[in-house]
Amino acid sequence: MTTLCGTLLQSPSPDQCTVTPNAAVTIGKDGRIAEVDAGGRAASVSRSKDTLGGGDCWILPGFIDAHLHLPQWDRRGIDGMPLFDWLSKVAYPAEARLVDADFAEKLADQFVTGLVANGTTTVAAYGSPFAESTDRVFSVFERRGYRAVYGMVLNDTDCPSSHRQETDKVLDESRGLAAKWHNAADGRLKYAFSPRTPIHCSEKLMRGAAALADMLNCYIQTHVAETLLGVEKVRERFPDQLDEIELFDEMGLLTPRTLLGHGVYLSQQQRHQIAETRTIVIHCPTANLFLESGLMDYVSLRMAGVRVALGSGVAGGPDPFMPRVAVDCINTAKAVKVHGLPRGTQSAPKPAEAFWALTRGAAASLGLADRIGSIQPGFDADCLVVKPEPWIADLPGEQQPSALLYTLRPDQIQHVFIAGQRVGP
Ligand SMILES: [Zn+2]
Repeated sequence: MTTLCGTLLQSPSPDQCTVTPNAAVTIGKDGRIAEVDAGGRAASVSRSKDTLGGGDCWILPGFIDAHLHLPQWDRRGIDGMPLFDWLSKVAYPAEARLVDADFAEKLADQFVTGLVANGTTTVAAYGSPFAESTDRVFSVFERRGYRAVYGMVLNDTDCPSSHRQETDKVLDESRGLAAKWHNAADGRLKYAFSPRTPIHCSEKLMRGAAALADMLNCYIQTHVAETLLGVEKVRERFPDQLDEIELFDEMGLLTPRTLLGHGVYLSQQQRHQIAETRTIVIHCPTANLFLESGLMDYVSLRMAGVRVALGSGVAGGPDPFMPRVAVDCINTAKAVKVHGLPRGTQSAPKPAEAFWALTRGAAASLGLADRIGSIQPGFDADCLVVKPEPWIADLPGEQQPSALLYTLRPDQIQHVFIAGQRVGP
């Protein structure tokens, strides 16, 4: 049994953050949270090698990053290009390296180490276009005790020859990977059929991926309406479709297990259609700014009832530290509020919502709300012990979550647990 002591911060709903000083969280041998003592017992917990944290520490649920690309992990921060130039100059060459499965395994180790150091305990990530390297990456996740939704990226048209897959073969390979890894490692690992975009996939590939995901109850992840040029390219490829969301619907890609990345250029009608099908949109504000794709209207998306989560977009986004991604979510919403039309009619999300979107909200969107995203008995112990600026504890309680969100740094993360196992940093 391990006991974590400190101030417990949780965001059970978008408009609420609870801060409980002197809490003690006990992790059972089964990797689940056995007990949460909010009654000040931490002060009297006898110190032993199984007691971590203390009066100057805080305990948070682990962060969830619902959109990033593993092959681009060591290509972060290459600025100065719009999306399609960046794809051909940075993303494709980065992914092509993973034809070497030994390299993929090495990169996966760096990916897990780096994400743990940033407090990210769950990812939904895209892999390379190669089946063997996808399999080896899953093995690394299993060995390292990591929690991941992951899948081989699919593209059979309009991509470099290093990436172009044979449609039937890649669907077969994806099915094999899903059969092997979906729900493996006590449910920590999940498979996502991952058509890159409708520009890069044939109709057959999109329909096939959607059908297999439905049959095997897996996730689907893809990109939608990330840039104006992308929207135009989809319209040119599929002139008979009303728009991209209609196309996705027709292909069977709008489902409660589908993660749509970006969604910067969605109309109100499209937002409602996404909400009706319970499809999830992953907002990647840092990436949208980095590649100058645009300012997503997060508030309108939420008001339409769309299920959301946040993504670093790595390496389209330069920064894997999810609190900074959440701050960019707030900043983007403030920019839309100040400069959007009608001007100033909607308020930007508050820090409580940011913490919710990084933890409980994301878990709910991924369909994992009964397992992660919250520190309560019976949940898997995915949690962080952090030692933030000491003056935060002196602020009035309602100001503390905001100060923590804006000032927390990765080097202040002391312990990271996934399913009760200490995985770093
Ligand atoms: Zn992406």
